[in-house]
Amino acid sequence: MLGFPIYIVGGSVRDLVLGRPVLDFDLVLEGDAMVLGRALATKFGGKLTVHTRFGTAKWFPGGDTLQQPGLPDFIDLISARSEAYKHPAALPTVKPGIMADDIRRRDFTINALAVRLDGAHFGELRDELGGMDDLHNGLVRVLHPRSFMDDPTRMFRAVRYEKRYDLKIEPQTLALVPEARPLIAKLSAQRVRHELDLILDEPNAEFMLARLGDLDLLNPIHPALTWDVTTWARLQHKVDTGEARWLLWLMSLTEPEIKSLNERLKFTASRLKSLYGSSKIFTTLSAFADLKPSQCVERLENLPLSAVSVVTLVAQGQSRQSLEKYLSEWRHVKPKTTGNDLKELGIEPGPKYHEILSGLRAAWLDGLVGSGNEEKAHLEEILRKAQTIQRLR
Ligand code: ATP
Ligand code: MG
Repeated sequence: MLGFPIYIVGGSVRDLVLGRPVLDFDLVLEGDAMVLGRALATKFGGKLTVHTRFGTAKWFPGGDTLQQPGLPDFIDLISARSEAYKHPAALPTVKPGIMADDIRRRDFTINALAVRLDGAHFGELRDELGGMDDLHNGLVRVLHPRSFMDDPTRMFRAVRYEKRYDLKIEPQTLALVPEARPLIAKLSAQRVRHELDLILDEPNAEFMLARLGDLDLLNPIHPALTWDVTTWARLQHKVDTGEARWLLWLMSLTEPEIKSLNERLKFTASRLKSLYGSSKIFTTLSAFADLKPSQCVERLENLPLSAVSVVTLVAQGQSRQSLEKYLSEWRHVKPKTTGNDLKELGIEPGPKYHEILSGLRAAWLDGLVGSGNEEKAHLEEILRKAQTIQRLR
């Protein structure tokens, strides 16, 4: 279109070859991605965002409206680049380059395939590193022996591809793990957390975690990240979010362990809250069997719903029934009396209101009242008691 070579690269080509849906579309050109982006947006419309620092642009062909299901909402436009690592495990410095460099900076041969799209070259495959053979033979292979040292996150990526596509990490690649393992400690919180998030987003995350455990790649992140038969058993529950898998994995940790893990991984506030919540419920699970409904509600209602739901999956017996009841019924129970009603009864507003209303709620939950009239009678009793106490003071 503008006279420079354009390729579709990386995961998109790999997924095309494997006959899998291609959900992200990466285009690399030997030229300025922003120039191509502007040309595309001018000719076909849509929206363009640019990142001058990395020489990349994102084109949203449908603008702000999403594309049809199965089509990518955006296309990543990347200027071919080469990378140098100032020191191991750091983010690379990026320089403009040609396609051959761009291919060599990638993680694995199966991700280093490119198909040319421009003009007469349309459809030409670039496979100078043996990616096609490796795909056919089912191998995840790094491009050079320093690869894991340069970027230890690639060890996590290798495991993810291995288990996602049922491949094998090629033996010489596997042999590079021990040397790079200590460098995991140098990775930033954000980078490790991102890799773990990507893994936990996968439907068969448990196979990936099991493999990471076998390769001793979890402990170097943080000693609280363990993998054993009980974690495996919990992850057998089929859930559909990364959040739920995080909780299934880590609900058995104690509060101090989560605190310490958070110092390494710097979870988002909401993830951290769910982790604390699921641990709180899971580590006291048997107690729920003997609690009155109102006591269950009291323990659970300030914890994230996701935490309660996930622990329910692994709970058994009476405790499980209590958690299920909480989710389906108890948490919705409210007294008919409102703060306004209390005001009309001439009660001075204050913290007392909360006390009275939660007393009424507890009465409903524990079956002490079952109708509006019974609630009124109960309210009067509460007020009478309060008056007596006041008189006695
Ligand atoms: P997925 O299906 O998980 O998105 P992907 O191959 O598209 O897989 P991305 O993380 O989207 O992976 O990255 C796109 C491409 O960028 C990869 O195919 C790979 O060539 C390259 N890449 C990504 N991360 C790295 C890395 N840490 N080191 C080298 N190359 C990488
Ligand atoms: Mg991708």
